[in-house]
Amino acid sequence: MADWDVIIIGAGPAGCSTALHLVQRDPTWAGRVLILEKAYHPRPKLCGGGVTNYGEAILRDLGLQIQVPNVALRKAYIRFQDLYWTLHGDPVFRVLRREEFDAWLASEVRARGVALHEGEAVLDVRREDAGVTVVTREGTYRARVLVAADGSKGVVRRKLGIEDGVSRVARLIEVLTPEDPAARPEFREPYAVFDYSPIAQDVQGYYWDFPCYIRGQAHMNRGIYDARIRPQAPRAALKETLHVMMARRGVDPDDCELMGHPIHWFDARGVFSLPRVLLVGDAAGADPLLGEGISYALAYGQIAAGSIAAAFAAGDFRFSDYRRRILSHPLGRSLRHRAFAARVAYSVRNVRLLRLFWRVASTAIALGFLRPRPADDFHFPQTS
Ligand SMILES: Cc1cc2nc3c(=O)[nH]c(=O)nc-3n(C[C@H](O)[C@H](O)[C@H](O)COP(=O)(O)OP(=O)(O)OC[C@H]3O[C@@H](n4cnc5c(N)ncnc54)[C@H](O)[C@@H]3O)c2cc1C
Repeated sequence: MADWDVIIIGAGPAGCSTALHLVQRDPTWAGRVLILEKAYHPRPKLCGGGVTNYGEAILRDLGLQIQVPNVALRKAYIRFQDLYWTLHGDPVFRVLRREEFDAWLASEVRARGVALHEGEAVLDVRREDAGVTVVTREGTYRARVLVAADGSKGVVRRKLGIEDGVSRVARLIEVLTPEDPAARPEFREPYAVFDYSPIAQDVQGYYWDFPCYIRGQAHMNRGIYDARIRPQAPRAALKETLHVMMARRGVDPDDCELMGHPIHWFDARGVFSLPRVLLVGDAAGADPLLGEGISYALAYGQIAAGSIAAAFAAGDFRFSDYRRRILSHPLGRSLRHRAFAARVAYSVRNVRLLRLFWRVASTAIALGFLRPRPADDFHFPQTS
């Protein structure tokens, strides 16, 4: 049985960020942390790949600049039926491929001397007073602290019986379509579309079009997001609605492979920790309004590293202030706002009211009330 101070399950953005932030605080953490990842990087990950300026700013604070191919979007059209408003930014956000981004992050973790075991899936987790036991096919490990960075369908929540009480699961379907970049305006400007027309078909979310490149080939990353933040409301026919939205764009859905994956979203009343255990990234909860989680996963890593350092300094592993740290961090404030906005936005189904909102919003945008913040505009408090 091998002993570690910290075991992180999952080498996605949340797990890698936790390790990177620990080592940034003190390089000796490198020898005290083990990451267990069930896949091998670069591993497939269903995702739109949209990284906001918030995420870029967190990486910049770690001394990192995104080193993988990406499309820097200058505009995002927020549509409802024939109405739209436009966000301008430099960039509004970047679209990248997750397999490349996550593999790059994992290589940065390794470069700092952190042990990362790929192809080693965690099968079981047991929590005791003195630590946590982690079981894989390859062996059994003991950790003084366990970080659950294992995503929306993670093993830690399941094995430790962490329940939300209510369903906090969004449904998503994604499609990748090859495109001729010369023929598509999305690649020329370049821009993304968030189309909220499916709200009229009971979808609590939107349809998206993100231009991207896969191994140098232009593709459109398309998909539909259904937050299900009001689980009692009628369940939308998601696949059929996606088909309609694609057909409107001249894409034959029968030629495409549809891929689905859930997102576990944030609720301020949710469970974020147990004694000896911290949840980060999707395991803790992503944004329910847009289903955004990459930048938040990076931010969770920063908070978790602060909590872990404080726990070892004090010899107190209850993590009773982890929730407070999350809620008082820019991440917690942003996710709370988004959760509130999602509850309000996705309870309106009256088309006339939605059209009125779109007209008012486009005026507000035109007057400069809403604008994405550039990456260098974010300043983070250093958590102790
Ligand atoms: C269709 C879709 C589109 C999306 N589009 C966007 C977008 O455009 N922008 C955005 O910001 N967010 C988007 N998201 C959300 C985003 O993908 C997640 O929020 C983000 O991946 C969370 O990062 P994470 O590190 O918490 O989890 P993950 O990225 O899911 O990483 C978890 C890691 O844990 C590993 N793991 C899981 N179980 C085990 C185990 N038992 N043992 C060992 N390792 C394990 C996995 O292999 C994985 O590498 C999208 C999600 C979906 C489904």
